[in-house]
Amino acid sequence: MILRDDDIFLTESPTQGRQLYNFEKFKTVHEYIASKGHKHAIAIIAAEIENYPELRDYILKRKDEFIFGVHGWAHTHYIKWSFENTALSLERAKNKIEETFDVKVEWFFPPWNEVSPDVLIGATRAGLDTNRSQTSTTGWLKGERADTICFHYWNDGQFGELKKII
Ligand SMILES: [Zn+2]
Repeated sequence: MILRDDDIFLTESPTQGRQLYNFEKFKTVHEYIASKGHKHAIAIIAAEIENYPELRDYILKRKDEFIFGVHGWAHTHYIKWSFENTALSLERAKNKIEETFDVKVEWFFPPWNEVSPDVLIGATRAGLDTNRSQTSTTGWLKGERADTICFHYWNDGQFGELKKII
């Protein structure tokens, strides 16, 4: 079971335009997960890493406590893209994360969990496994089971649900 926290480094919601980035909330959620002995899987928007050096440095110092995943170069609808362009974008994001944190990145956690045959081919070409089995904290509490539990560190309701799970 992977605890998958989406939209890491993303400044604002791509659908609602509201501010999401919050370093203090991220630290609170991370320290809770680490205190329970779990790894914190982070789905990173790679284009925004350099905008938030305090978050970058915090993750870098504690990198053994994380599982690193690509959520996209930007938070975009890859299902509208060709596999060639998806592969280029995901490879760019993977390289950026690997260079920044000196880690190996194996996961693609798709934005909105949207996948298509082209998205899957593009991710494979970028050297990433696509996460296709997921539920939410709400779903997990209702008894749904999947490889990953998705939540957002900035969503207080989902953090409350996570605390009932771990
Ligand atoms: Zn997202």
